[in-house]
Amino acid sequence: MPPKKSLPSRSSGAKKPFTQPDRKRQGAKVLRRLAADFPDVECALKHDSPFQLLVATILSAQCTDERVNIVTGPLFQAYPTAADLAVVPIKRVEKLVHSTGFFRNKAKNIRSCSQALVDHHDGEVPQDLEALVALPGVGRKTANVVLGTAFGIPTGVVVDTHVGRLSRRLGLTTEKDAVKVERDLIAILPKKSWIDFSHRMIYHGRQVCGSRKPQCDTCSMRKFCPRVDVG
Ligand code: SF4
Repeated sequence: MPPKKSLPSRSSGAKKPFTQPDRKRQGAKVLRRLAADFPDVECALKHDSPFQLLVATILSAQCTDERVNIVTGPLFQAYPTAADLAVVPIKRVEKLVHSTGFFRNKAKNIRSCSQALVDHHDGEVPQDLEALVALPGVGRKTANVVLGTAFGIPTGVVVDTHVGRLSRRLGLTTEKDAVKVERDLIAILPKKSWIDFSHRMIYHGRQVCGSRKPQCDTCSMRKFCPRVDVG
């Protein structure tokens, strides 16, 4: 059997790969394909409450979800709520989250965040973007994750490293900055799709379209993917 012919790849350097209407059509194709490939998706970060998802998401910065899940197992068993975590000595928190990297900063943030939840929100996670981003250590991405996954409120598209990379390769954006990528995605994807789109793109990034070795020859999107900047 002759080897499969590789798809031509496209450089994003000279001009934009798609017009805005093209991007919308491309976004619709990607959504359909992702929904067929990954009908049942859930957040990779283990959690039993919005608070635990908030803490896990803060810890996931510059760290794999697998590592975060290893760390949050004992952390949430010992301190399952904001009220519990708010009073733990900082050195103890640092020790528990050490292996996620940037542990001093993360320990400070999750403890301060817990304290702020106790002080201003009765220990509960607010279902409001502005209130969330006012919490220590909580940026727009973390707030989007919590509102979307824990409460089903689509306030934006979560753009992590997988979502950013795949969106560029698929021609949905030419941006590299996560905020600008999110802006482009919001402009072309229906709001009701925002939450699952991110989860599914992450699955696809992990299983098929990896950073170094995208499996284009067997990818379900190969027929319409321009493979922007794929070597
Ligand atoms: S694996 Fe290849 S064809 Fe599939 S989405 Fe990634 S770059 Fe496109």
